[in-house]
Amino acid sequence: MSIDCIVAGAGIWGCTVARRLAESGRRVLVLEKRPVVGGNVRCEIDEETGIEIHSYGSHIFHTHIPEVWEFVNRFIKFNGYQHKVLANYEGRIYYLPLGLALINKFFGVELKPGEVADFMADEAHSKAIFDAFFRGYTSKQWGKPPEEIDDSIIKRVPVRSNYDVNYFNDYNQGIPLTGYNSLFERLLDHPNIEVRCNAAVELDGATLKLSGEALPAVPTYYSGPIDALFGYRFGHLPWRTLRFETEKLDVKDYQGTSVVNYTEASVPYTRIHEFKHYHPEDAAVMNSPKTIIMREYSATWRPGDEPYYPVDNTESRELLAKYQAEAAKVPNLTVGGRLGGYKYYDMDKSIESALNLAL
Ligand code: UDP
Repeated sequence: MSIDCIVAGAGIWGCTVARRLAESGRRVLVLEKRPVVGGNVRCEIDEETGIEIHSYGSHIFHTHIPEVWEFVNRFIKFNGYQHKVLANYEGRIYYLPLGLALINKFFGVELKPGEVADFMADEAHSKAIFDAFFRGYTSKQWGKPPEEIDDSIIKRVPVRSNYDVNYFNDYNQGIPLTGYNSLFERLLDHPNIEVRCNAAVELDGATLKLSGEALPAVPTYYSGPIDALFGYRFGHLPWRTLRFETEKLDVKDYQGTSVVNYTEASVPYTRIHEFKHYHPEDAAVMNSPKTIIMREYSATWRPGDEPYYPVDNTESRELLAKYQAEAAKVPNLTVGGRLGGYKYYDMDKSIESALNLAL
């Protein structure tokens, strides 16, 4: 087909952009460098147990943005899963986020909601909590002490003075009943969309190329890492990468919940995911005599690693601005998404940014 637009990178941002373009009558060519679409939300189904493995770490869809919720619900239905995260500190299990369940168990007290603020205003209490649940985890996750990372990162975790142990404040939450991969299949299932995988786009001067051939000079939406697009010419942006160790175990239920964070610095991994718990509605999966767990380790990104988290600091902002200035010089190019925009987007924020693009 002749094409009007190109979307390079078929993650959640790219697929949303492609869908919008297609619905507005444009013919879109989607180019994905991996053999499959879905970016880092891609899952794999274990044939033996039917368990949906989040290959790049747990993804829980949650949003308070009505337009985003409405948009995704056009394509998939959610199972109503509400995310809870437990913390293992010195072998004891606590409910995150920071609220009455955690505080009362940690200090062996029975505070009422109205007493939490005063109790936590005592520096010894807040320091003890911070050191137990945030210091070690944050230094493993970001490779530096919490004092050296931007406040906004730790503030992602809610603070409450009640027993609500929902990890997110968003009412709209869940896991796609038909699995995450079906979201991408359905977003891209449109007569105006053609998808090519194993198709890595490169930039040569100001020309976008595929396998050495210049691509048509049409509006192009790129969502790979912005520094990679320019061959790291100003140096690479600081990213955090992840390493996963996946294991199938001959037990029905390993940890009794989907995510347990290991908050001490001395435990090398940050968390253990147990994927069957994301589909409590699926009796066959839940009753399987086996389970699949994944230990997650965080590390400094090096060339060749997958980038996962942008590291926001003064130097990275300056470097990002340089790459953005270069991107602005490439005709027809828009760069976005978590890797393109170098933003710590959750899935809903990535969709929101794609919905808000003037196309
Ligand atoms: N965090 C922490 N202890 C925890 C959970 C989170 O110190 O048990 C801090 C840590 O710095 C982390 C940030 O809060 O990077 C945000 O946590 P979130 O669960 O939102 O991280 P994500 O799931 O996006 O990796």
